[in-house]
Amino acid sequence: MLRSYCRIFLLGVQIPLPPGTTVGASLDVARPVVDAINERLLELERATDGFSLTFVGGCRYCGAATCTRPEGLPCRHPEKARPGLEAWGFDVARTAAELLQLEMTWGRDGMAPPALTLVFALLHNSPAAIAW
Ligand SMILES: [Zn+2]
Repeated sequence: MLRSYCRIFLLGVQIPLPPGTTVGASLDVARPVVDAINERLLELERATDGFSLTFVGGCRYCGAATCTRPEGLPCRHPEKARPGLEAWGFDVARTAAELLQLEMTWGRDGMAPPALTLVFALLHNSPAAIAW
């Protein structure tokens, strides 16, 4: 599928987190940002006949009680859910560092890093530059 696209638009976002933020709380902080970016990426998909890759962090559309993915069943929201760059073999830390000049950091022991670094992409064939 990657070979059907000749261009990629990359978007990196870094969200600073206060010291002592847990991983779970960091995902709550990131959620509105990720949702807004995903919505825009889906618009750009439609405009360019492209395909987007997103920050995943769990199913964003079902709610934990009803998501089919933990059971290995097909996604209920294929029109909106997109895979992460990692799932397609991208080295996200290297992509962020070399192409977006964003250094990723990692948390430990259930605590979030000082900043969340999120990388998104739009695969497309549009000759026009992507206007974010
Ligand atoms: Zn789901």
